[in-house]
Formats: sequence, structure tokens, C-alpha cells
Amino acid sequence: MVTCDALIVGGGPAGSTCAWQLRRAGLDVMVVDAATFPRDKVCAGWITPQVVTALRFDTEAYAGRRTCQPITGFRVGLIGGRGETAVAYDRPISFGIRRCEFDHYLLQRADARLVLGAPIASIRRERGQWIVNDEIRAPMLIGAGGSGCPVARMLNGVTHARPLVVAREAESRIDGADAESLAIEPEVPELFFCRDLQGYGWCVRKGEYLNVGLGRLDPRSLPAATVRFIAFLEARKKIPPRFPWRWRGHAYAVNARPPRRIVDAGVLLVGDAAGIADPQSGEGIRQAVESGLLAARTIIEADGLSSRDRLEPYAARVQARFADAPISGALGRIVPDSVKIVLAGLLLEAPSFVRHVVLDRWFLHRHQLALET
Ligand SMILES: Cc1cc2nc3c(=O)[nH]c(=O)nc-3n(C[C@H](O)[C@H](O)[C@H](O)COP(=O)(O)OP(=O)(O)OC[C@H]3O[C@@H](n4cnc5c(N)ncnc54)[C@H](O)[C@@H]3O)c2cc1C
Repeated sequence: MVTCDALIVGGGPAGSTCAWQLRRAGLDVMVVDAATFPRDKVCAGWITPQVVTALRFDTEAYAGRRTCQPITGFRVGLIGGRGETAVAYDRPISFGIRRCEFDHYLLQRADARLVLGAPIASIRRERGQWIVNDEIRAPMLIGAGGSGCPVARMLNGVTHARPLVVAREAESRIDGADAESLAIEPEVPELFFCRDLQGYGWCVRKGEYLNVGLGRLDPRSLPAATVRFIAFLEARKKIPPRFPWRWRGHAYAVNARPPRRIVDAGVLLVGDAAGIADPQSGEGIRQAVESGLLAARTIIEADGLSSRDRLEPYAARVQARFADAPISGALGRIVPDSVKIVLAGLLLEAPSFVRHVVLDRWFLHRHQLALET
């Protein structure tokens, strides 16, 4: 039997961030992941300023041979709409990364003991210790296994009733000739809202890669909405005619009430396992990183104790950090479609609304300072 102070299930941004902080505090940490790294993850790969600061992410040192696309503006419109509203910032306001590179980098940097290519087969608790896969024993267990996390299932059962973002994306390298002919700039990703405001599509150039996708709060209409979105992008020369569409789909829970149980004796959930992605933008990397930090802070303050009451402050911290997530999905469901189409069209043509509400508030959360590390 191998032992450690903290065992983290899942080596995505939530797990690696938690591991990084616990290692910095001197704990013996193991990360178990079903995948071998580098592994990819279905994602547009947009990271916001709070992520860069909280991770102490040196974008220049990271870039080297990896993709790290500075984003200095956005174009925002309606799928099928007449045009887009452009918003520019005077410095990089976000970055576009590739998850196969980013997640691998963070996991290596965490400096934890890694057990990769090892799906979780069993979790049991004996005399205040967790025993995972009959091989690893630890007093602290952190569930960071994303939307299908086995630790989250153990704590909450299967939670079908929660609002889910269902999304599909395709990412591929674009060759020189195609890149030149595209009407989309690398520094300025484009976002297009669905007319019923139940989701949005994106078209993002990250260095030599193009990433196109669509996310919705309504799973049944995703295939038809994707077809409409692609036709719209083609007509506007936003995507090359020979783009190899290898769609990858995924569903994950957004922050909603009642919150999931994310704390119990000796166990915490972080990232998608905690169901805290942003319901407005679908952003989940920031929530993964920040919950990883908050979990590590709570474990360090508990000073070797892992009773439920010592870990309970974590739930309050997560609640305080993500409680103000807006609920446009719910609003979208009660406003009739005919009203939404007119309203959305008008609002998305107003530069001030697009900059201050859609981008600064809903997508970039500029009112929230980054967490200290
Ligand atoms: C199409 C799409 C686009 C997105 N775009 C963005 C974006 O641009 N920006 C953004 O911020 N967010 C985006 N998100 C959300 C974001 O990808 C997730 O919120 C984020 O990856 C959550 O990180 P995590 O560490 O919690 O989980 P994950 O990144 O999913 O990592 C979980 C890890 O756990 C491992 N694991 C799972 N099950 C087991 C098991 N049984 N045993 C062992 N290991 C296991 C997995 O192999 C994986 O490595 C997008 C999501 C989708 C679907």
C-alpha cells in the first residue's frame, strides 16, 4: 500500500492547481488520472485574466513552442444576424491555449507524484483513511475528475436534474493559404449568440489552430443549432471550405441551486466535479483553478485534521466566490422567443452593452479580482 497526505483524483486544471498549492505547503501529494498525459480535453481553450494571475502563469515563458494566443478584443453578434459589434482593449485581456499543452504543463509543474493511465476502480474508507484502487491510502481525498468524477458520484449520487451545458467543438490546424483567406483575426475571437439566448457559438483562431464550437443549455437542439451556425460561418468566410470537422462533444454542470455537496469528512470536490462552471459563459477553467486554490487553502489551514467541520469553510468559500453567477439561462426560458429575438438583436448592436455587460461582466468577470496565491 502506498501512502500520501492528499490523494487527488483527476489531473485537469482543478486537480493540478490543488496539487501545486499543497506541494508548495510541503504536503506529500499524489494525483491519479485515468488518462496518460499529455491528454486533450474538449474545450475552446480561452483563459481569462483571473486564471493567469492565480496560476502565476508566465505567458511568455509558457509560449515557446506551445500555443498561447493573446486576445485583445472580441467581435460579438447573433447567429444569422446582420453584423458584429467589435470591442477592443488596450492590452491582452485573455489568452487562447490548447488543453493538450496547458493541462500537461500545469500537471508537470505541480510536482506531485503522478499515477497516470489509472482509472478509479474502488474507493473505500477505513478508520479515517481513504483507500483507492486497493493501492493508495490517504487521509484527504480530493475529487477533481471533471463531470464524471467518481468521488463526486460517491458524495452526490448521479445528479441528472441539474442544468447542463452541452457543447461540441472542433479544433484543427489551418494551413497558410486558408489562414490568409479567413475573415477572422487571431487576437479577436468571435462570439455569436443563439437567437433564443440559450447558448452561443465561438470561432477562435489560436496561432495556427482554429477552434469552432457551440454550447447550449438545451441538449436536444444542439445538432440543428450547430448546422445553422456552421452555415452562417461559411457564408461569412469565417471558416475555411475544407475544414476537417471532427466534432467532439461534452456536457458539464453549471453553477445552480441547490449547490452540490462538495465537502464531507476527509473529502472535497473541485472544478467540474463540484458543478460550478459559469452558467452564462460556460467558463470552467477559472472555476477549476480557483476551487483548487480554495480547497488547498482549507486543507492547509486544517493542519492535518480532516474532520468535516475543519473542511466545511471550503463550501462557504466556493459559495462566496461563485454565488453571483448570473442566470440568463433561467431568464432565457421565461421570456418568449419573439421578444428575445428582437431584444437580443438590439442589445448586441449596442457597443456599450456588449463591452460592459456581455464581455466585462458575463465573460470576463472584471469586477472580481484574482485570488491571491
Ligand atoms: C466544448 C467546451 C468548450 C469549453 N471551453 C471553455 C473555455 O474556453 N474556457 C473555459 O474556462 N472553460 C471551457 N470549458 C469548460 C472547461 O473545459 C471545464 O470546466 C474544465 O476542463 C474543468 O476542469 P477540471 O479540472 O474540473 O476537469 P477536467 O479538465 O475534465 O479534468 C478531469 C480529469 O479527471 C480525469 N478523470 C475523470 N474520470 C476519472 C476516473 N474515473 N478515474 C481517474 N481519472 C479520471 C480525466 O481523465 C481528466 O484528466 C469548455 C467545455 C466544453 C465542453
